[in-house]
Amino acid sequence: MARGKSISHFCAHCERVTKMELVGAVEDQPDRTWYRCVRCRHAMLVDLNELKKGEEAAKKKPERADCSDYNPSNTYTVGQAIFHTEWDDFGKVISKEKTSGGGSAIVVSFQRLGERRLLENLTNGFDSQD
Ligand SMILES: [Zn+2]
Repeated sequence: MARGKSISHFCAHCERVTKMELVGAVEDQPDRTWYRCVRCRHAMLVDLNELKKGEEAAKKKPERADCSDYNPSNTYTVGQAIFHTEWDDFGKVISKEKTSGGGSAIVVSFQRLGERRLLENLTNGFDSQD
């Protein structure tokens, strides 16, 4: 058993992917384990099968052909592969966030650049009609 092993997992309290530390197994449910979010300290049951699936999906590198070109006016889903033409890099959407201004953002794990936060669903919110 790898004690003290931490994972990256979506925290419902933080509403984002956070680092979680292993708390302990569940006696009656061998496929489930308690993890605790290091950010908000909430504990949650993590389904190990789903976790494994997620890890495998994350390891699988997206192909350029699978990627949609990033455009801030579009919306994206977690797991979607996108290509950023300006940065000439592609990656997968790993989570979604709300910006402080009430907008939407995606967190993308790029092949070269690593994790980057990008805006999505940008409409005409910047145009003041007053
Ligand atoms: Zn949390």
